[in-house]
Amino acid sequence: MSKHTVQLQGRAEPVSVGKIVCIGRNYAAHIKELGNERPESPMFFIKPATSLCPLSEPVVIPPYSKSARHELELAALIGKTLKNCDEAQVLDAIDGWALALDVTLADVQERCKSKGHPWEIAKAFDGSCPISEFVPAASVTDPQNLMLSMRVNGEQRHHDSTSLMLWSIPELIAAASGYFTLEPGDIVLTGTPAGVGPLEPGDILEMEIEQVGRVSSSVAR
Ligand code: ZN
Repeated sequence: MSKHTVQLQGRAEPVSVGKIVCIGRNYAAHIKELGNERPESPMFFIKPATSLCPLSEPVVIPPYSKSARHELELAALIGKTLKNCDEAQVLDAIDGWALALDVTLADVQERCKSKGHPWEIAKAFDGSCPISEFVPAASVTDPQNLMLSMRVNGEQRHHDSTSLMLWSIPELIAAASGYFTLEPGDIVLTGTPAGVGPLEPGDILEMEIEQVGRVSSSVAR
């Protein structure tokens, strides 16, 4: 898989990715653990296609950060153009589901926020979006009711259901399409549940989303 494509099981050709739209603060418990307020509308940001890398390969933390954090998220592969769409159109426009890590440089992000600067260098750098192969949408019975779990060195971190999202998948993707036209090959990350934690060089990562897949990886030294 090159940096700018993803694999969809059952499709012979890799899928070229345009952009990755991400939602911040989409699970109540995660908001609480970071001490944030529940937002009134969904908060979005974008990672470029250059942030992609295979989830099975070691996560590389850039040298300018001393505190990286993992956020394991359910990722949707967009198959049809969505612009200002209705919630009812969303699930039909999703071609597949995957596991994605929203790798966040917590120290860099805090530094940027405190200065009122944009924080792309904390969340959108090369390799900040490790992603698994996508399974076809039809193979997942209910994307809004999947257990998502992650262990780091055998210790439980994330362990929650996608049913706990503040904005459901149709709600958040419809809202995102009001700002950003979603095109075939774009990816939407649906937010992280509770249990975010640090990533240290040498860590062993085990990640699973029910019906979507299970992937083991590590953090590079
Ligand atoms: Zn995230």
